[in-house]
Amino acid sequence: MEVVFVASEMIPFATTGGLGDVIGSLPKEIAKLGHRVSVFLPKYKKIFKKALDLELLMEGIHVPLGSEVEMGSIFGSRYGDVRLFFVEHSEYFGRDELYGTPMGDYPDNDRRFTFFQRAVVEGLKRLKIKPDVIHCHDWQSGLIPVYLKTLYQGDSFFKKTKTVFTIHNLAYQGNFPPDSIPVTGLSWDEFKFERLEFYGKISFLKGGLVYSDALTTVSERYAQEIQTQGFGCGLEAVLARRKSDLYGIVNGIDPDEWDASKDKDIEANFSIRNLKGKAACKRLLQAESGLTVDPSIPVFGFVGRLADQKGLDILAPVVEQMAKENWQLVLLGTGDDEYHKTFRILQKRHPKHLGLNITFDPQIAKRIYAGADFFLTPSRYEPCGLGPMIALRFGTVPIVRETGGLVDTVQEFDPKTSEGNGFIFSGYQSEDLFETMKQAVRIFQNERLWAKLVRNGMACDFSWARSARRYVEIYERVERKSLKV
Ligand code: ADP
Repeated sequence: MEVVFVASEMIPFATTGGLGDVIGSLPKEIAKLGHRVSVFLPKYKKIFKKALDLELLMEGIHVPLGSEVEMGSIFGSRYGDVRLFFVEHSEYFGRDELYGTPMGDYPDNDRRFTFFQRAVVEGLKRLKIKPDVIHCHDWQSGLIPVYLKTLYQGDSFFKKTKTVFTIHNLAYQGNFPPDSIPVTGLSWDEFKFERLEFYGKISFLKGGLVYSDALTTVSERYAQEIQTQGFGCGLEAVLARRKSDLYGIVNGIDPDEWDASKDKDIEANFSIRNLKGKAACKRLLQAESGLTVDPSIPVFGFVGRLADQKGLDILAPVVEQMAKENWQLVLLGTGDDEYHKTFRILQKRHPKHLGLNITFDPQIAKRIYAGADFFLTPSRYEPCGLGPMIALRFGTVPIVRETGGLVDTVQEFDPKTSEGNGFIFSGYQSEDLFETMKQAVRIFQNERLWAKLVRNGMACDFSWARSARRYVEIYERVERKSLKV
């Protein structure tokens, strides 16, 4: 099959979170299964900095945007067996960030991502890539399924093309005022409750949900949760209506990307058979974070976007209690200004118990994954949650809240049977988190049980192969069916 991915993030080129990880791995896995795979991305400023052999493939592509036509270019490159296409428009994508600054989103994200999506559709025709499946990801590519079934419906070039849309996080919806309708070039007929209208706005995400031939999301549990009011972010009815086309497929991680036995960014290498190097990683992490270097002090790690979703409001009060217990926390993240402030204050108050890195830095992330004893994911909701999977690969024990994909990844450790790979709590209160941390530290202090728990985690297999096969099954299924909106 000719499979085209359209996304707004991909490691190692540009990312803000899990979406980038997925696009960095899944296309490669699909290619391994014998399909021709391409990925389309915006050509952000950050991409210039990567040592990529970019070739200008096409200049002066006419992209309709509102009543005007704007010009775009497409650059090509390769990433293993995967072809890469970068859509250039320097005014829209030549900025420091992908979507906005900590103060808020860029105000013209409707134009930026409409341009991107129409440039992809136009670009495919110019490049003569006739996809069997276009696999779209999150709101930034939600209009593509709409275009194919409206503006391009009669276009014989796309006659056989089907669309699959993956929800990585339902809370990010790409909602814009009705004025954006003309920008997209869509008819006002689309501004209806059954189509793209969402509480008086146009929702790019809803476009993907309504118009794609199949929908997937990144864990079985989240696929169920989003059909309910508590997690559906107002779209639960739309999703429930499309229940028979909605599949939960858990993300994997790239075992070569995350491998403690050969990673060059960490202090010392280690493996399930020889864990000695992990102690050296912990020493360095404590020292670099300005914490007391002492192997007997439990070190908790957190890596993630500092957003409401991530449970930072229940984590922050726990820092005081951790300090009393003489435990340590190393936090890496960037996001909402409010959390930057909260954790900066806590760090000033407890410099020996909180190591703080308000930045996006994959190298520090690896040092935390490798050097911490525990990895905290107290999320309010979590579609998949790659952090705990990566932590497990590095022998770091996850403590997670019982929600979304975290439930697919972490099994509660049972000291009687020595089975399980982490700790789970269900309430959304600081006490729930803190009680579970206390219970986890008791196991940490029991050398025999701790060694077993760490090894159980390192033995888990989160590789992509199985999930990639499931995606291909869905591609094959949509090829055979036709959807009426
Ligand atoms: P989400 O998709 O909600 O952002 P995930 O846990 O699924 O959450 O994926 C987050 C990914 O982004 C992980 O690979 C994590 O290591 C990485 N990441 C998040 N924040 C940072 C940061 N500040 N620095 C480096 N890597 C980060």
